[in-house]
Amino acid sequence: MLLKERTKSVTHRILESLNYRMNLPDEEKIKYENQLKGFAGEKQFDVCMSRSHQSCLILNDLVLTHRDTVFQIDSLLITTDAVYLYEVKNYASSYFYREESFFTESGYKILNPLRQIDRSVTFLYNVMLSLGYRLPIHPLIVFIDPEFNLYSLLPNKLFLFSNQLPKHLNTLSDQNFSITDKQVELGKKLKALHNENYRPDNLPIYHFDQLQKGILCPICFSTSYRDTRQTYFCAACGHKETIISAIERSIVEFRLLFPESLMTTNRIYQWCGAIYSKERIRVILKKNYHRHLSRQMTYYSEK
Ligand SMILES: [Zn+2]
Repeated sequence: MLLKERTKSVTHRILESLNYRMNLPDEEKIKYENQLKGFAGEKQFDVCMSRSHQSCLILNDLVLTHRDTVFQIDSLLITTDAVYLYEVKNYASSYFYREESFFTESGYKILNPLRQIDRSVTFLYNVMLSLGYRLPIHPLIVFIDPEFNLYSLLPNKLFLFSNQLPKHLNTLSDQNFSITDKQVELGKKLKALHNENYRPDNLPIYHFDQLQKGILCPICFSTSYRDTRQTYFCAACGHKETIISAIERSIVEFRLLFPESLMTTNRIYQWCGAIYSKERIRVILKKNYHRHLSRQMTYYSEK
């Protein structure tokens, strides 16, 4: 039973938006590509998981905090007597694993996923304990790309390669766990602790004036468009939606990129590329947000 769907992280969404609105510096571009690759790998993992028809509870992509430390879990599976914690790695090509470190073919050392998962296990154990649950955690690092090769002298029981994943998931689904209210309660409590607005402090620096304005297509990220009285069409891929929904999406994107900025009709009018009237934008802002009136200006915030 899927208790929490996977969503793109704040970093992923910000880099995505910036990538189509400015020239991202090379370093940020690489970060964006890594986000895309990681997300694609996690989605691939989700497909395998859903095909295996688990009777246990599944929570995808949790951002949790333990004593001011934020940690992220790719997938969590709650059974009757244990919790499985999956860290999905979408590494391509070949890597070497020796002396408990990971190296690329060209000899570069990469962040050790074993250390990363060890940290997540410790934090998750403590979070669950604080919620009143003392369950064993089984961590697994899933290498999802079938082309991935790991050269290693020693096998590691935490590694799960893409060809081993179906068997592992089938073994779990064969156990046909009967989930009790206690497990459901744990799942819901963990879901409630998920911080979907977590903003890491290594986000790129950008300013409103430097970004290309206009409504981005949610499919192909183009800003070229055609429209009728009520409908917005992407001129590049043909995606179609109401103008209201296109403006609403753009407002959400503005809030994501500029959470500290005052949201005024004029700002959103500019952000949407000055193609729809301020009156039309005001109506949408009034409907979805809380309106603040001051002598100098009117601005809007979350309801
Ligand atoms: Zn499009």
